[in-house]
Amino acid sequence: MRYRRYENSHRTRRGRYELVNYTYKDIINSLAQKLAEAGFENSYWEAGELAGCALGFNCRGKFDPLTPADANGVKMCAMLLARRLTHEPLQYIIGEWDFYSRTFEVGPGVLIPRADTETLIEQAVKKAEGRKDLTVLDLCAGSGCIGITLGNLLDCEKVICVEKYETAFDYLKRNIDRYGGAEAFLGDVLDKKTIETLPQADMIVCNPPYITNADMQKLQKEVTFEPKEALCGGEDGLDFYRDIVRLWKNKLKRDGVMIFETGAGQDDEVMQIMIQAGLSDVRARRDMAGINRCVSGKREERGMVNLYVQLDGK
Ligand code: GLN
Repeated sequence: MRYRRYENSHRTRRGRYELVNYTYKDIINSLAQKLAEAGFENSYWEAGELAGCALGFNCRGKFDPLTPADANGVKMCAMLLARRLTHEPLQYIIGEWDFYSRTFEVGPGVLIPRADTETLIEQAVKKAEGRKDLTVLDLCAGSGCIGITLGNLLDCEKVICVEKYETAFDYLKRNIDRYGGAEAFLGDVLDKKTIETLPQADMIVCNPPYITNADMQKLQKEVTFEPKEALCGGEDGLDFYRDIVRLWKNKLKRDGVMIFETGAGQDDEVMQIMIQAGLSDVRARRDMAGINRCVSGKREERGMVNLYVQLDGK
């Protein structure tokens, strides 16, 4: 009997080649072992994600663990494992990540959506209660996870996601193509032209870069793969809050709301920035870990203020 030589085969003691049927399960176990040996914490779970990506099965859904893998898939697994062992984020390797029940395309050049940011979504949903035909601006939109999610959750007339960097902008457009609910605008949020071009908004949402210069030196290895432009908020991490509140507060309609994600411990200062800029109803919202993770403020209802002035005058 002749034995064909398969790529994922090995030589028997008698010198003949036998097909080794690596199943999905074998591969996941072997990847998990290599990851665990290298000190990765959720090794089994990550192994499933890498194998699913390399072999083209959905590791988060139902799959048959005894399915045999093809030789190219096995090679691909080894390549993805090698990338992960350099601490490149799993999200970049598999090319997507879930955020608020949707899956966003991500890769080098765009910030990875984080569960922390779901706090901002919850605050936006709360502030939008009973409101219709909203115009929403998502500044520093990156993958678009905030704007697209809100565009699909709220009663919006228009959601515009503003992103400055071309690479991130490509991901933003692809994610909008997938889910709709928003449009993409290539521009710098600190540029007056961008501000003039965009419409008055009922809601401005933003997850700006907010890590301090000092903390940028001590990032987790994975985070160093992400664009520093999306992470670094200057000396005290607050540069973008100061600039965006100053430049964009007048783009809020009456009763319009501005909502920022904030880094741990920044909520007080961001609230101060908003109060000093004349926004009202300024408050913070906690994330699941109990950290104040977002801050919101409202543009004063000027009509009411004027009304009181008139009444006083009479
Ligand atoms: N939450 C991110 C981190 O700590 C930072 C994102 C940002 O700067 N907006 O890695």
